[in-house]
Amino acid sequence: MAFSPNIDSLRPSATLALAARARRLRDEGASVVDLSAGEPAFGTPAFASQAGIEAIREGKTGYPPTQGIPALREAVARYLDETTTHPDADASRVLVSAGVKQALFNCVFCLFGPGDEVIVPAPYWPSYTTIVELAGATPVVVDAAWEDGFLLDAGTLERARTGRTRGLLLNSPGNPTGAVYGLDRLTEIVHWCREHGIWVLSDEIYRRISYLEARAPSVFDVPDRHEEVVLLDGVSKVMCMPGWRIGYAVAPPALITKAKDLQSQTTSGAVTPSQYAAAAALGDSALREAAIAELLGRLRKTRELGLRIFGEVDGLEVRDPEGAIYFYARLHGEATSMEVAERLLTEAGVACIPGEPFGSPGHLRFNLAVQEEVLREGLARVRSFFSRTGCN
Ligand code: PMP
Repeated sequence: MAFSPNIDSLRPSATLALAARARRLRDEGASVVDLSAGEPAFGTPAFASQAGIEAIREGKTGYPPTQGIPALREAVARYLDETTTHPDADASRVLVSAGVKQALFNCVFCLFGPGDEVIVPAPYWPSYTTIVELAGATPVVVDAAWEDGFLLDAGTLERARTGRTRGLLLNSPGNPTGAVYGLDRLTEIVHWCREHGIWVLSDEIYRRISYLEARAPSVFDVPDRHEEVVLLDGVSKVMCMPGWRIGYAVAPPALITKAKDLQSQTTSGAVTPSQYAAAAALGDSALREAAIAELLGRLRKTRELGLRIFGEVDGLEVRDPEGAIYFYARLHGEATSMEVAERLLTEAGVACIPGEPFGSPGHLRFNLAVQEEVLREGLARVRSFFSRTGCN
């Protein structure tokens, strides 16, 4: 069958595909510990779910405004006011979409096109390069090294800059690495972008999942920014609401208008009851912060547990994640990470994600946002797989 050149560069989401495969194996009766997912394995806080249920009961089930219901856009603006030092987020600058994924797609599609280059630091969340390519622009991948804590600086970015560089996709805390940009480094990078007229798209979906500081620095903590800055965030991770599909972009009004127009011709506004649930999740500071504290408490425990068990695994070296919900491990042997991930799934019954789709072969990513006993069992299998096979 012939398809349009629009999708020449399209690759399915490798992470979603692996999670689906693990699910299938489990459905067939295999014992699989799934550490592949990119989501917290905990339910949505009751107060947020309740708001969604009430919205349905009250008949709030019509089409929403394309840009998002005012209550949610106002809640987002207040949330950013409360949790960043230089916010720039009144409700008119907020676009609500079906997850950060759609918010990012909308912004990238509106800003970049053929001939434009967009810098993507690697390891990267796989959708970044694909979305840039779907827009017809060229992703320019710049490798961040394990030895540098997977962080880039303005000097490295400058070497990648050409006359066509139009954007930079930042993600801190990072998926898959857990690396966090400190405020000084973030400021240096944003100011470098300002100097060269480069858009900064900052995916801060893990901003509140930070293990060393109360929260990871945001682009909205950077003083003296230029106008061309987009903050992307949502409720999938921090409020444990991935299936509600709510994310948002905060950007200059002209871009919000374009992205809204694009969304009006594709999916329209995000699911109405989900927007009410997200507005409740973000809107009540006390309940929101208590829910985040509870999540962080769980994640700190599984992070400690995982680091302890990984310390006993020969053949895998694991970084202490500073944020986000993953362990990123480096392999030392001959086998590719794709091969090792495949063997871990079929021989040890553990699903994880190999480094290839993140643009960093030779690594494995494990979700740490699972129940303690799940992580303990999964990593015990990983430990015995490596000692049994010597596969590294
Ligand atoms: N950005 C990053 C870095 C992610 O890890 C994910 C989810 N895995 C997303 C965006 C997508 O989030 P959402 O559910 O809001 O579409």
